[in-house]
Amino acid sequence: MTSSAPLVHTVNVHKSFHGNGVLKGVDLDVRSGEVVCLLGPSGSGKTTFLRCINQLETIQGGRIWIDGELAGYEDRNGKLYRLTDKKIAAQRREIGMVFQRFNLFPHKTALENVIEGPVQVKRLSKAKARERGLELLNRVGLGDRCDHYPAQLSGGQQQRVAIARALAMDPKLMLFDEPTSALDPELVGEVLSVMRELADAGMTMIVVTHEMGFARDVADQVVFMDGGIVVEKGTPTEVFNNPQHERTKSFLSRLR
Ligand code: ADP
Repeated sequence: MTSSAPLVHTVNVHKSFHGNGVLKGVDLDVRSGEVVCLLGPSGSGKTTFLRCINQLETIQGGRIWIDGELAGYEDRNGKLYRLTDKKIAAQRREIGMVFQRFNLFPHKTALENVIEGPVQVKRLSKAKARERGLELLNRVGLGDRCDHYPAQLSGGQQQRVAIARALAMDPKLMLFDEPTSALDPELVGEVLSVMRELADAGMTMIVVTHEMGFARDVADQVVFMDGGIVVEKGTPTEVFNNPQHERTKSFLSRLR
């Protein structure tokens, strides 16, 4: 693929659990530097799709390319063969993921949480990792909280540590799975503003969210999923102001 190829390119992705089709042919292109917001009702397959992109799930049909590389598989004469776990782990290192629940190590400080990956996985020296970790904690507005344990931090602060932790691995792509939905309403803004800054800095991001204001302001592309398919996609103006499909219209009207 040439450098103008999308950073994420998915074609006809299928995934089912125990025979239940959850993704029924999802196509998506995300260009480098683009922010894509995935919207849709609960159960429409958004989380599963993110997990497939990050290879936390194995797809049963279709193809996913990340930066021109077939994710999790190699293609020999049109047949897919699964890569070794080692190769899959190497591919996953390029992708940062932030979950609804922050999943920080409770017995480690904010800084220790952030440097864990770079030291253990990337084999960075502790000194280098600390330097970079501090830089990242500053970036998410927590430079003065690096020695705090998760229990001493608010949910919004913990989520910002989780974002710094993901960034510490220098990902090409960041996936956010409803990063603010477990937070008290007054803490949502601080996490969204870190995400906005990340978007402004050119990070490629796919964000599952119910925060329509964020999607409207920050997304380059809004993708509406329902029933395991992409029903509609376009710019925020196209999708929010002029939705084409009944399902999109009805979903958006329920939010207003
Ligand atoms: P969304 O993120 O849009 O709410 P999900 O991807 O979480 O949707 O879920 C889509 C469907 O897949 C749901 O019906 C859910 O119950 C099912 N599902 C997701 N993960 C699993 C799993 N590990 N095992 C069985 N069913 C699952």
